[in-house]
Amino acid sequence: MGAIRYTHLPSVTTVPVVGLSERYPVRRVYCVGRNYADHAIEMGVDPRTDPPFFFCKPADTVFAPEDQGDVLEVPYPPQTSNLHHEVELVVAIGEGGRNIDMRRAHEHIFGYAVGIDMTRRDLQLAMRKAGKPWEIGKTFERCAPMSAICPLHLCGRIDQGEIALTVQGQPRQKSDLSKLIWSVSEIIADLSRLYTLRPGDLIFTGTPEGVGPVVPGDTMLASIGGLATLAVKVAEAQADEVAA
Ligand code: MN
Repeated sequence: MGAIRYTHLPSVTTVPVVGLSERYPVRRVYCVGRNYADHAIEMGVDPRTDPPFFFCKPADTVFAPEDQGDVLEVPYPPQTSNLHHEVELVVAIGEGGRNIDMRRAHEHIFGYAVGIDMTRRDLQLAMRKAGKPWEIGKTFERCAPMSAICPLHLCGRIDQGEIALTVQGQPRQKSDLSKLIWSVSEIIADLSRLYTLRPGDLIFTGTPEGVGPVVPGDTMLASIGGLATLAVKVAEAQADEVAA
């Protein structure tokens, strides 16, 4: 038996940047859970006694449109019958650090994007109920679609403004970034006490209320004031095959 050769070396995931030819290489994807009070409540949790928390998605689950107007496709993932959308502000770290002072956290931001934390809700809730890690609910192929990153010098600091998502043109999620329980600065400061942040780290900052199911054929439009709208279509489940 000869040694198995790595014929398909994994490539680094990169995301386009508005106004730049260079791309943003993705290192890690951090996510905040239950960072809007009304979403915590719809998930059956009291936000006053149950604060937000962090989890991660693998870097290679991120993908973004090459050109504005392109529609991304998420294949309906396996082992679920309740795929949910979660529109979120995504923060891209430009300068790393640890134990970052909240008052200087904005100096570590490279830019912003709008993303959707796609979720196998049935698996997430089953694992939650069993007291087990709910990673399988949050992580699957192409579970983190996002827009190109708008650099800070083009879009300015984003601390407030509408965040919304429609499905087939129907309003589903609509809130304001000012309702984040943990602000972007608090998230960066807190995360940097748990991990050393580096350029290439993305942070999905949490979703507002109105999460719900999508089915193959649905198109989601995710928007945040000041950023390009992200269009994502749910495609049919992938046929069984050996991954290329
Ligand atoms: Mn989320």
